[in-house]
Amino acid sequence: MVKLAIVVPCYNEEEIFEYTSKELENLIIELINKNKISKDSYVLYVNDGSKDSTWLCIENACQKYDHCHGLKLAGNVGHQNALLAGLHYVKDKCDASISIDADLQDDIQVIEEMIDKYNEGHDIIYGVRKDRSSDTFFKRFTAQSFYKIMHAMGVKSVYNHADFRLLSARAMQQLALYKERNIFLRGLIPLIGYKSACVYYARKERIAGESKYPLKKMLSFAFDGITSFSIKPITFILGLGIFIVIVSCIAILYTLISYLFGWTAPGWSSIMLSIWFIGGVQLLAIGLIGEYIGKVYVEVKERPRYNVEKVIEEKDHETTL
Ligand code: UDP
Ligand code: MG
Repeated sequence: MVKLAIVVPCYNEEEIFEYTSKELENLIIELINKNKISKDSYVLYVNDGSKDSTWLCIENACQKYDHCHGLKLAGNVGHQNALLAGLHYVKDKCDASISIDADLQDDIQVIEEMIDKYNEGHDIIYGVRKDRSSDTFFKRFTAQSFYKIMHAMGVKSVYNHADFRLLSARAMQQLALYKERNIFLRGLIPLIGYKSACVYYARKERIAGESKYPLKKMLSFAFDGITSFSIKPITFILGLGIFIVIVSCIAILYTLISYLFGWTAPGWSSIMLSIWFIGGVQLLAIGLIGEYIGKVYVEVKERPRYNVEKVIEEKDHETTL
């Protein structure tokens, strides 16, 4: 029977924590009773440097429930790294993990189906949203554009899949070999290449607390996703540069001929336009190259992606690391 660890990154989730911890405890008990998972399966809450009382809530839940563990990170490292910290922590302590957001917008009822798929021999099981009706038009549109751009850049990622997925222990061990700091799990996990499957569900709305992904964060997440996985934008800029050089040569030739034959000189507007255009393209190119150099800079430092401060694995027993 599979020993399951459900990994839940939590950042300022005090409003919803009671609901979440109760639902997940009940789910674990239900799955144990159905003989789907082993008795020592558990939920690991990763506190990502919350500024509110989330850690206290986790401590209380670990007292109250039998299948609750806690991991306290020393600071806020963001959703992806917090999740990674949890996955690294459980990779040698269970047979499979399921990652899910603390707001339980993803349907926990399909977890059983994920386990069935795992037992059939799949290492990676993606939770995929059937529809996006609970999203605003804007979020739907931006999400769709994001997937299309990612696809065009040659990044394989599962459409409409967020970070709700099952990973086998060996998939987690492989994941631990990817050392990059700019982590984007949705793009990384398909690279592991083990046998995968999908389960489908309808996503609910957040019942309490607010989204930690405002527009600005969402855009930077999308941009990071693209630049961490593909150098196509640089290739594109190079192509654009070559094209503009060719166009400039033609323009220079035309200007020279006009000069030699005494035709009227090109006017102010065309000069202004070219200055602006070329200037713009150059800035864009420099900015883009800067973005990649910035990424290299962050990667070469090899700073730890997270620091674990405390662990709770049993009732009344908190270990400080
Ligand atoms: N989260 C985190 N660290 C952060 C921001 C978010 O661990 O810096 C967690 C958050 O607690 C939640 C998950 O990441 O469990 C996804 O966040 P949220 O539900 O706000 O995102 P949305 O569903 O709106 O995209
Ligand atoms: Mg959410």
